[in-house]
Amino acid sequence: MLVLVINCGSSSVKYQVRDTDQQGEGNQVIAKGLIENVGTKIPDHTAALAIMAEELKTPLHGKTIDSIGHRVVQGGDVFTEPVLIDDQVLQQIDDLSPLAPLHNPAHVLGIKAATETYPGVPQVAVFDNAFHSTMPEYVYRYAVPEELVEKYGVRRYGAHGTSHDYVTGVAAEYLGVERDQFNAVVAHLGNGASITAVEGGKCLDTSMGYTPLAGLIMGTRSGDIDPSVLTNLMMRDPELTPERMDQMLNKESGLLAIAGNNDMRAVVEAMEGGDERAKLALDMASYRLAKYIGGYHVAVGGMQALIFTAGIGENSSPFRELTVSRLGALGIKLDMAANQVRSDEPHLISTEDSAIPVLVVPTNEEKAIAEATEVIVAG
Ligand code: ADP
Repeated sequence: MLVLVINCGSSSVKYQVRDTDQQGEGNQVIAKGLIENVGTKIPDHTAALAIMAEELKTPLHGKTIDSIGHRVVQGGDVFTEPVLIDDQVLQQIDDLSPLAPLHNPAHVLGIKAATETYPGVPQVAVFDNAFHSTMPEYVYRYAVPEELVEKYGVRRYGAHGTSHDYVTGVAAEYLGVERDQFNAVVAHLGNGASITAVEGGKCLDTSMGYTPLAGLIMGTRSGDIDPSVLTNLMMRDPELTPERMDQMLNKESGLLAIAGNNDMRAVVEAMEGGDERAKLALDMASYRLAKYIGGYHVAVGGMQALIFTAGIGENSSPFRELTVSRLGALGIKLDMAANQVRSDEPHLISTEDSAIPVLVVPTNEEKAIAEATEVIVAG
């Protein structure tokens, strides 16, 4: 099946056409691209998709798209699995916008534009938080008054679910463990970063919360912080408006705030050159991550594997080394040579006598979305 995978942001459209009947990543990806400046140089999402359709003409050789899979960031507690999009689903995605103000409205525009560009082609929404819908209430609930839950849907939702789900499946297969018997801790470390406790192949807990600001220290996001810092400062300083605080914690914090750069490569290079701020930033980020790994190891009753994925998780051997060096209490030992290996395939980076295997598993959200889309459309 020829599946067009679309990831619509507020100012960009990322796309990939995949042929799910082919074997191997190289054969499956027919075309991919990124259209930026939507809303400025390119007037709207319909115009962006018209450009995409034009770009696809040559690689498609006259073949037609069979189905479209959309990445949708927030499905709230309404959507717990991928779903065929109709008017009602579109309305529900729109209704969930307060929980993802930067993302869901853009997805709605993208779905409408796709309906215009590819009339009659079935479209599927694949929700980024669906994998986290198995979290029990004692995990997803915050200890706040019921009113906030009812009125604003305040609870932990999580993100990067498609990636955590995909990587869990690949790792279980790699280790030869039945997925429903598989306990693991998955660290998705990209620009945004989150970690998931997987028990019996399902999500038990994840570090992102009501929004993707919670949890780990990220490129520009603070991760966990005492919420009183916000309320206290906003009460004291009129310049620190909610908008300003939101901007500060989401865009001006994390590695950027400490090291002056949000790119892991640059921060590691600076540390290696003796930069004390870069060292502090890496110590903070790896310490926070190691603390979560230890906690989740306990939460799942003992992980059978620790898994790294996404831009930093797949590529930054120094950051993996720094993190694992803090896990000595768990008997985890890194194989220094294996940790240097770059590969598109899942691979082991711990020693044979490590108490728990450590894996690098390249994520592939587009593949996961295409497969989910095919299942829904074919079913
Ligand atoms: P996104 O959340 O945008 O999908 P990615 O998963 O692509 O992010 O990860 C992006 C981050 O990965 C970059 O900010 C960079 O810090 C890191 N990264 C990418 N390549 C490397 C590399 N070779 N070494 C270290 N870090 C890398």
